[in-house]
Amino acid sequence: MPTESELRKYIQDLADFYDDQGDMTTSVFHGTTEKATIVNSRSWLQDPIGWTTIEDFVTNVIFFAGLYHVYARAVSREADENKTRSCILYRFDPDTGEPSTYGTTWGIPDGDLQLNRDGFFPDFDDHASPYLVPEAVQPVADMMNEIVGELVFYDEYTACGKCGQIIRTSPDCYEWQPDFVDTEDGIVHVDCVTVDDALEAYSRKRAGLPPAILSRAISEGRVFEIDHTWENGMHPGMNDDPEKISDFLLHHGITQWWWDVMPSQFYVEFKLVLTVDDTIALSELYHPETGEDISDRDASEKVEIILASLDVYQGYDTAAEMSKALKGIHSDHITVTKRTL
Ligand SMILES: [Zn+2]
Repeated sequence: MPTESELRKYIQDLADFYDDQGDMTTSVFHGTTEKATIVNSRSWLQDPIGWTTIEDFVTNVIFFAGLYHVYARAVSREADENKTRSCILYRFDPDTGEPSTYGTTWGIPDGDLQLNRDGFFPDFDDHASPYLVPEAVQPVADMMNEIVGELVFYDEYTACGKCGQIIRTSPDCYEWQPDFVDTEDGIVHVDCVTVDDALEAYSRKRAGLPPAILSRAISEGRVFEIDHTWENGMHPGMNDDPEKISDFLLHHGITQWWWDVMPSQFYVEFKLVLTVDDTIALSELYHPETGEDISDRDASEKVEIILASLDVYQGYDTAAEMSKALKGIHSDHITVTKRTL
């Protein structure tokens, strides 16, 4: 059995090895001191989201720590391809970088491992009382957590292009909004980007300005939000088309705009964000309904009057078209695709 310092060195060396290979990147979650490691895919192992890297890493540590009883239980699991995933297991020598194959066997899960009383891994649908992990596992799991932190996947997280800290890039709920901006420096966290750069990156983009950038830009007086909410979604009447608004703005010489998008479960609401300077282009306009001259009004008020009465109907009702499509009636706007899970 290795000493605690030998084990610590082994885990650190192994993490460094994977880092050098480009398989893992250790940092902290952005703006925190909470350690995390992005696990990348390894195409040469046909490893689509990095599971094999995790399995290599954990298995090597388990072997080095001498926890063979955990491994023995893991490999004793009866074959059930519908419920249990097999993998090709490699073991790396951190000094030479040479992998050696252990053949096809079961993956070793992480420090949350709880085996059933029969000594096998619980299936997803198995709610039997778990077999408690041998006490020797916990210090090893704690040490791994201390060195690499939470293991997260590259298709859900990325490193900030400015500071290298870890940012979530994949939605985890329908109300999720990004807290990063896609810039020339790559994905950069909202705290690491200037309002200027963010506004430039998102002008006329078919995506919402990240909320943190919007509130900074408003508080710095760079932009203002039109006090009118449009909607598009699955409920009847939610048929507003942002392209109609874009066309109107371009037609009137307004060259930059942004969207404040508020996603919801079955629809999105959106508002328009403009600069005060650009609204001067609308200074000669009249009230579209009353014909009243509104050129003396405050810029934001003027634009609100005009845009709130703009016809932005997308040309069909999404809810009605959905209803037709689900009844098997042809729809020009909704395509039904059947998939079996
Ligand atoms: Zn950053």
